[in-house]
Amino acid sequence: MKNDTICAITTSSGNGAISVIKLSGDNSINICNKILQKKNLNEIKSHTINYNKIIDEKQIIDEVLISVFKNPKSHTGENIVEISCHSSTYIEKKILQLLLNNGARLAKPGEFTLRSFLNGKIDLSQAEAVADLIASNTELSHKVAMNQMRGGFSSELKELRKQLINFASLIELELDFSEEDVEFANREKFKELLSNIKLKIKNLIGSFEYGNVIKNGVPVAIVGKPNVGKSTLLNALLNEEKAIVSNIPGTTRDVIEDVVIINGISFRFIDTAGLRNTNDKIEKIGIEKAIEKAKKAKITLYLIDANEDLKEQISEIEKFKKKLNNKIIIVINKIDQKNIKDHNIQNCFYISAKSKKGLDKLQNHLSEDFQMNMNSNEVTINNIRHIEALKKALVNINDTLYGIENKISGELLSQDIRQCISNIGEITGEITTNDLLENIFSNFCIGK
Ligand code: GDP
Repeated sequence: MKNDTICAITTSSGNGAISVIKLSGDNSINICNKILQKKNLNEIKSHTINYNKIIDEKQIIDEVLISVFKNPKSHTGENIVEISCHSSTYIEKKILQLLLNNGARLAKPGEFTLRSFLNGKIDLSQAEAVADLIASNTELSHKVAMNQMRGGFSSELKELRKQLINFASLIELELDFSEEDVEFANREKFKELLSNIKLKIKNLIGSFEYGNVIKNGVPVAIVGKPNVGKSTLLNALLNEEKAIVSNIPGTTRDVIEDVVIINGISFRFIDTAGLRNTNDKIEKIGIEKAIEKAKKAKITLYLIDANEDLKEQISEIEKFKKKLNNKIIIVINKIDQKNIKDHNIQNCFYISAKSKKGLDKLQNHLSEDFQMNMNSNEVTINNIRHIEALKKALVNINDTLYGIENKISGELLSQDIRQCISNIGEITGEITTNDLLENIFSNFCIGK
């Protein structure tokens, strides 16, 4: 039932001092009143915080602060009560139990955000951004999620959709006058509009490449012959960031990936953990194997040993480059062993992985290069559902353009464009199905 009153602990369980239990729904104020010593929630002003005590029969359970947000001025659009209590598992559970006994029910995962969406407080992509914001652990992923949550991304799509609806209406109007052979929709102007929209959709699709890596870490491969210092370099990078390094079990490939955060950006070093542990059979890093690794990465650090013939190595890298489109950064290691006089090989980094000399320059380059390539003012897509819908919309736009070129009937033209409108509407939630909502919100945690 949409208007029943839901409740959940919204803070994470742990060692904090305070926990917050939230209620939302028509009855939240009445239900909460029943478990308070001073039953004054109907009288107090909205958006105020008030001291009170939670009681069970006559027994005091906790001294609490109660925040009240009366509808419609709350984030769900319903009456919201938030109880800030002391963070004890016993107290939390006890209060929750009292609320349930008095008519509230436990919220499902994401149900508060779902209600915000259903009551028109946010659109679907903003709701999804809430989940991303909570999961964001770097400056950049936070920025992207925040931008999406504030509606930057949705407003762009809504604008596109509005223009398409105008277009479709004019075409459909022509159908009503089909006997008279009129053309309300100037085809040249339409083509112009469609090309504009196509460009925008393509840009959004293009931004996914960055949005996705911001969310999951920029994949980096370290390749090079055995003993050039790949593991040493990785260890040096990891040690630099020891406090914020985490091991993330790969979801798809069952490998451990090391994530290092450099200047607010996550870099995910692929497969390297596996390699570090296989000292037995020294990896036969034939060029093919290195290519295989580099293909999975966005950036490849190609490591060479300063003690070896550099010219020969570089020419090998050239061969390697031809087989890949990815960015390759050449890193000359062990400069502590060999004094390379005039670092005359262009576009290389000279480091000693062992002493960490030159490492900061390499790190800064990695983060600066990434930031330069992504235009941080542009909207960035980081959600697979969105990208799928945009790709479908792009096909619809191409079909429409093809239809105009080939003068197909207005009826078919309008079908393509309606499809496109529907695909874009799925992202912002102007068009939804129960399955879709279920799918999105069940991935949230309880209390959000
Ligand atoms: P990998 O096979 O490419 O992973 O190479 P390792 O990281 O295992 O390094 C091979 C050897 O080179 C080890 O003995 C390292 O201590 C040494 N090494 C790595 N980097 C440097 C460096 O910058 N300077 C010096 N002198 N030795 C290094």
